[in-house]
Amino acid sequence: MSGAPQRVVATAPGKINLSLRVGAADERGYHALATVFQAVDLLETVEARLPQVPGALTLTVDSRVRGDVPVDATNLALRAAALLRAETGTTQGAALHITKRVPVAGGMGGGSADAAAALVALNRLWQLGLSDRELMLLGAGLGADVPFAVLGGTALGTGNGDQLQRVPAPAPLTWLLCAPGGHLATPEVFRAFDALAAQADAQPPRTPRADQHQLAALAAGDREAIARSLANELHEPAVHLRPDLQEILSALREHGALGAIVSGSGPTLAALVRDAQHGEEVSARVREDRGDLECTLTRSSPYGARIVAVD
Ligand code: ATP
Repeated sequence: MSGAPQRVVATAPGKINLSLRVGAADERGYHALATVFQAVDLLETVEARLPQVPGALTLTVDSRVRGDVPVDATNLALRAAALLRAETGTTQGAALHITKRVPVAGGMGGGSADAAAALVALNRLWQLGLSDRELMLLGAGLGADVPFAVLGGTALGTGNGDQLQRVPAPAPLTWLLCAPGGHLATPEVFRAFDALAAQADAQPPRTPRADQHQLAALAAGDREAIARSLANELHEPAVHLRPDLQEILSALREHGALGAIVSGSGPTLAALVRDAQHGEEVSARVREDRGDLECTLTRSSPYGARIVAVD
């Protein structure tokens, strides 16, 4: 269609960290990471319309998951909009509407996905013409997971997780995601990581190294080897703060998951399963003991933030 769009809808994926190695914190308290991100097809949707009042920026949220989502200026989608305006000098406004499906404060980067989808939608609505690369650089200023939510697929993240390199991962993977309720604040999990390292007199490396075995397993599409390589150095601090996570992980493995990990800083748990039917079986068995678990089946996704409708 020609002319300026009135409405743009974009989606962006939640993520799992297939491996997460944590290094020392810098003077700002940000930790160096080496992590393999994988996008899943559990999507956030951001609709951006031209507002009735020119220049106004507003937000509404329709959440399909538990947990509180801020609707004020601290919401990452609104912060993305404000950043785009500041960087480009545009004074255009937007009415944003988020449909949330990624668990809130669950370690799956849901807020970052909202920021990424907002950047992509507003770039089109406001006809700014920024490239994905430019949006990723801008997004890094909002949060370390935002660039990955723009890129999607499977990628190695270094720096604070914002320096990305795509990695080959040809085999589609099926994941059973279990949200045990409650939240874990990412900064709190990193503080527990630091405290546990100090207690053990351990010195995290300045620059953690990527897990080469995992990269090789992904490139080969070897599910069993991928399952064996799943590892998260935030596991210990997350379990320290939420001991019940360990029981659920053990139950997922006992009930047949190929592998299971805490996703990012938790508390969502990600279990690798053979296919949807296998995932349903594992889910039913685990939920016999823990009926309060919200489990969802999803698959790895090659996509990052992308536009799905323009009117
Ligand atoms: P991380 O990217 O650190 O893994 P997470 O997935 O654990 O984050 P999010 O759902 O992104 O957690 O939200 C973390 C916090 O950010 C929330 O507790 C909330 O206060 C705030 N927040 C800001 N904007 C959003 C948003 N659009 N959706 C959800 N939370 C948001």
